[in-house]
Amino acid sequence: PPRMRFAPSPTGSLHVGGARTALYNWLVAKKGQLDFVNDPEGEAAFVLRIEDTDLARSTKESEDSVLADLTWLGLAWDEGPDTPLGKYGPYRQSERSALYTRIADRLIAEGKAYPCFCTPEELDAMKARMEAEGIPPRYDGTWRDADPEVVRQKIEAGDPYTVRFKVPPNSRVVIDDAVRGTVSWDADATVGDFILLRSSGVPVYNFCVAVDDASMGITTVIRAEEHLTNTLRQGLILDALGAPRPRYAHCSLILGEDKQKLSKRHGATSCNQFRLDGFLPDAMINYLALLGWNDGTDNEIFTRDELIEAFDIDRIVKSPSVFDMDKLKWVNSQHLKKTEVEDLLSLVQEQLEFMGLLKDGADEAEVRDFVFASTALAKQMMETTRDAATNAKTVMGYNLPATFEDLADGSEAKQMIEQGNFYGISMKLIELYDAGNFPMPDSDNLLAAFMDGSNKAIVEDTVVGGDENSYPAKYKATMKSIAKEMNVKGKNLFHPVRLALTGEMSGQDVTKQMSLLTMASGDSSVVNLDA
Ligand code: GLU
Repeated sequence: PPRMRFAPSPTGSLHVGGARTALYNWLVAKKGQLDFVNDPEGEAAFVLRIEDTDLARSTKESEDSVLADLTWLGLAWDEGPDTPLGKYGPYRQSERSALYTRIADRLIAEGKAYPCFCTPEELDAMKARMEAEGIPPRYDGTWRDADPEVVRQKIEAGDPYTVRFKVPPNSRVVIDDAVRGTVSWDADATVGDFILLRSSGVPVYNFCVAVDDASMGITTVIRAEEHLTNTLRQGLILDALGAPRPRYAHCSLILGEDKQKLSKRHGATSCNQFRLDGFLPDAMINYLALLGWNDGTDNEIFTRDELIEAFDIDRIVKSPSVFDMDKLKWVNSQHLKKTEVEDLLSLVQEQLEFMGLLKDGADEAEVRDFVFASTALAKQMMETTRDAATNAKTVMGYNLPATFEDLADGSEAKQMIEQGNFYGISMKLIELYDAGNFPMPDSDNLLAAFMDGSNKAIVEDTVVGGDENSYPAKYKATMKSIAKEMNVKGKNLFHPVRLALTGEMSGQDVTKQMSLLTMASGDSSVVNLDA
């Protein structure tokens, strides 16, 4: 049964790359739990191991935020810092020092590691000498074959020492990487006898990882390409411990659209930001899975269970993947469509709260109605749950630019919006236009014509009262006929209409905004108008 691990260093929040690594490991573990019906010990597991040996950079806040993001993504761990210790815990490296020291002692006793008493000055001199001779600097083995009696005396005298790994002569590490194929290293040509424990007794990173992968019974390691070179040292240590090496899969980088390594410059990259921006965890999982894997068909929309069923470590792609925000939005909109309105309510409410749109102490039942109205079209028309909240704002009609402040605040305008009286609003806007306050040229006729058409449609009950899902199509038809009648197209038509309806110069498809305005009755008793 697969024992998988996700091993974050708690030095920041969870980003796209880390989340993808966590997901791939989680998927293999979940599939293992389905496949191994004969797993009475419950060995197939997704283990969360906190790699906090770098005490200076690790923080509890980072650990908490990584755990919260994994929880939001629905990547629950079977074993981790908050589960019973069982036979594999504890799950924070900072709590496992006794194990690392014990293993280092064992390796020394077996002649596979040794104390090194070189001072920093001696090591610097060694390095300088090698550089001068034109050979790659590395530890020259000064203490490798030291007289055991001398070593004993120095230890007794309290001389500080590091513990170094004795790289066996002529050793090679060869792995069959699920992504990269056969990768091999000639140890002699690559590393000198490297440090396992620093003179302070603090273990080095690769030693901890190898000891933990062995002692936690990890069968498979899926991780980022940047860790590939660590596999040499970890492989040598695992061999010395007599532990089987896990199977490895080193995933390629995730790039931004400019083909540079994905970073903050490219916009949102942290999971928490995607949560704030209104993405569904299931959509996030779906998109992350596609970022370096496919099932061999052109199927792109997967539920969680379908992913568990379809995911295959041997189908992880070797080429770097490009993070495509539009694609993520599309995937999100597909999941939104499939989600019941009821299941979106808490997410939309969360968005309204993030945006500070709900009045403190508002009546719960009224909030519920309002959230429902704001959400109703989300699954059909929105790309994110944030759009539902933004639309709630639009519906309330208080998002008007400064020049329209009187419109926003005036009870007259609010009434018109609440009554869906677009004709009245457009007339009001035309007044502003005549007074020189209207930023679009030649919009008066256009607005009048449009509002005429739209009012007629409402009066004739061709829009209101029909199936809500058909509003956008009907409004599209209205817009088309106005475009024809007035001989205007594109933004010359959409901009003034949107402005008249929402006071916004830009936004989502205006026919969607019109649909929302039509169907939602804004309830100002729950909305914080100052947000
Ligand atoms: N702690 C490492 C990181 O956060 C992961 C190491 C590994 O997966 O082996 O990048």
